[in-house]
Amino acid sequence: MLQAVLSVEPGADEVLFLPLGGTGEIGMNLNLYGHDGRWLIVDIGITFGGDDFPEHDVLMADPAFIVSRRQRLAGIVLTHAHEDHVGAVAYLWKRLKCPVYATPFTAAVARWKLARAGLDAVPVHEVPLGARFEVGPFGVEYVGMTHSIPEPNALLLTTPAGAVFHTGDWKLDERPVVGRSYDAERLRGLRSEPLLAMVCDSTNAVVPGSTGSEGSLFAPLLELVQAAGGRVVVTSFASNVARLVTLARVAEASGRRFGVIGQAMERMVAVARATGYWPADLPALVDARHLGYLPPVEVLAACTGSQGEPSAALTRMAADSHRDILLDPTDTVIFSSKLIPGNERPVAAVHSRLRALGVEVVTDADAHVHVSGHPAVEDLKRLYDWVQPPAVVPTHGTPRHLRANAEIALGCHVPRVAVIGNGDVCRLSAAGPEVLGRVPTGRLALAPSGQLAPVSAPVLAAMRAAVG
Ligand SMILES: [Zn+2]
Ligand SMILES: [Zn+2]
Repeated sequence: MLQAVLSVEPGADEVLFLPLGGTGEIGMNLNLYGHDGRWLIVDIGITFGGDDFPEHDVLMADPAFIVSRRQRLAGIVLTHAHEDHVGAVAYLWKRLKCPVYATPFTAAVARWKLARAGLDAVPVHEVPLGARFEVGPFGVEYVGMTHSIPEPNALLLTTPAGAVFHTGDWKLDERPVVGRSYDAERLRGLRSEPLLAMVCDSTNAVVPGSTGSEGSLFAPLLELVQAAGGRVVVTSFASNVARLVTLARVAEASGRRFGVIGQAMERMVAVARATGYWPADLPALVDARHLGYLPPVEVLAACTGSQGEPSAALTRMAADSHRDILLDPTDTVIFSSKLIPGNERPVAAVHSRLRALGVEVVTDADAHVHVSGHPAVEDLKRLYDWVQPPAVVPTHGTPRHLRANAEIALGCHVPRVAVIGNGDVCRLSAAGPEVLGRVPTGRLALAPSGQLAPVSAPVLAAMRAAVG
């Protein structure tokens, strides 16, 4: 058992990495980096409790450690706009009260979340793609990656004691459909930086091969849509703007009208438009209210609800209670998404209700209708080969994912790896990563009143056991 660290003061000769959430689990990322007496937060996300913990719908890492040293917090740097990286900013900002840094798309999402919580005055600094800037004692450089949302960024954090490459969520996609491809030249150049360690996404470290490209989905989706006799409704993650653009192009190519259904998806399209990620040459979207009046064979709709969320558009369609669309037996529903573990029951319930309506259900088990946004084994090997880090600290995964990523790194001749968990204070130095001790961690849950409350010890234990 490691000694608890009672006083953690990052020195001028080291960089500390201290994840409070997201290491040993997938979701609610909250990473701290410490150097020369100051701290930096990288990402501040949430997790949805899902079917197993319905009373804990929105969860986030307990930031108590950094709240108690808030005067030493230099800022929050966001890598990208997924909920598990940005979702807690509006819930926790009042406790942290520091500047927020993000690239334009992520900044737009963060501002929207803050404004909805009445926090319009929070300083969100919009940083151009690829920019270098300073936050306290840290130099920060955004390095362009590809993922499943516009503007995924890795971070090169530099200090006089050395640099850390924090990958954020990534894959290597030559055809990302929207936005730039990854910055291969910069990634290959990282080997000449004074790196202490690379802190790397482990989500798909147990998946062999390479993750497919977003650009590979147009042809199979078009084939399915052309073969369909009635309406086609496609459910996917609301934030996957590239998938929505692909679907809009499939609609165009198959002579159908396209619209999006569900608040989260409509909002993402609005942000994509405002930040230049919605192609101007696409036909105008048909309003959800009008889609139901068109002949079914002329309709292709994208909607929320791929995880069986109770109030999402698809769940309502499956219950035959959606305001705008009532499905017919000739219709097809495509799940252009993966099933997130924990959501098996609600998704199976939506499938069976759809089938009871006579609707044809197509999932990624039936056809090539989804690609992941995270690196599989061969992608991890490629990036380790490019960067040649002296040490790897896996993050963004359950313990099984972290161990698998560590094995891959060792196989790529990375000299040192450190598999750590939330609360571990990991010293990064030329001597390699070293866990100095552990600080208390926990989770906060959003109560129906809007207040945040610590998750009780028994529930926390059950949640940890569920991760495996
Ligand atoms: Zn992500
Ligand atoms: Zn993530």
